[in-house]
Amino acid sequence: MSAAAPTPCTAEPEALEALLDGIDRGIESHLAWNQRLLRCALLREPPGDDVLHPRAHTLCCFGQWLHSHRAQLDNIDPVLAEQTASSHQSMHDAVRRMCEQLLLGQAASADDLLAYEHGQSTMVMVLNALRERTSRATTQLDVLTGLPLRHGLEHMFSLRRKDARRGEAVLWVAMIDVDRFKLVNDTHGHAVGDIALQHIAKRLAGCMRETDSLFRFGGEEFLALLMVREPRGAALLAQRLLEAVNAHPVCTPSGSSLKLSVTIGLAQVGPDESLAHATERADRALLQGKANGRNQFVTAPDAG
Ligand code: GH3
Ligand code: MG
Ligand code: MG
Repeated sequence: MSAAAPTPCTAEPEALEALLDGIDRGIESHLAWNQRLLRCALLREPPGDDVLHPRAHTLCCFGQWLHSHRAQLDNIDPVLAEQTASSHQSMHDAVRRMCEQLLLGQAASADDLLAYEHGQSTMVMVLNALRERTSRATTQLDVLTGLPLRHGLEHMFSLRRKDARRGEAVLWVAMIDVDRFKLVNDTHGHAVGDIALQHIAKRLAGCMRETDSLFRFGGEEFLALLMVREPRGAALLAQRLLEAVNAHPVCTPSGSSLKLSVTIGLAQVGPDESLAHATERADRALLQGKANGRNQFVTAPDAG
């Protein structure tokens, strides 16, 4: 159930950003291969020397990029890096064989077509997984809660929005604020406040799914990006978050039990809405929840 831990990585954030760009370009350029193949099949159009070369997989832009970034990708995930290279090569080999047949005026073999389709879908799947791992590696973690800091939020938001645009799910922003937390510090001291924050972070993270991302937004506020597949998915998850915090009081070092709650503002992200705008709407819904009495979630009206 809980979201996978970010991968520790020593690479500079800029280098990881550049890596993500390369991965995105790899996905896009290889989705365009269907068109090149179709043109060759239907118009008998030569697909280009780079396609017919026995080492075509080392000549295409992505192949060259892969070669020069292989060490970095191995550092992120050597298994996924190897699967990327092998599916890319098998896709190119199958394309070359099919184009050779077509240019001879013969039908391509069904096995080659299958190998091509398999190579392409494997490569896109593996690149998506690599992209996911790389973006986790760009996040900096909060020392207190172990959660990613808001530094990596903008990037994760744009990745998730791309996924949402592909129709996989609807993206929501949830702003989560601990109720009357100042009182915890004032009554029990800052150290107990820190324990309480760690406890709440753990309870919230335990409710997240693989595709959800929870950030420590600042102070006693958390922000979650939720990929929602069911009509009431965001509301159901928000309800689970409230219950997860309510049902598990914090045990203080002095042995007392501290009941805490959170208030949540939910906003469904509009198709072209920025993170800042969606966050502002979620924040307004959160304030409404505070005004209504706390320990509840409020859903913002849709973006105009
Ligand atoms: P509300 O229900 O309206 O949100 O009330 P609140 O008391 O939670 O809100 P307020 O913004 O007044 O107080 C937030 C408190 O959170 C104040 C700040 O000292 C505390 N806080 C922020 N970050 C940390 C932290 O890392 N550790 C501890 N112990 N306290 C923190
Ligand atoms: Mg606050
Ligand atoms: Mg608060």
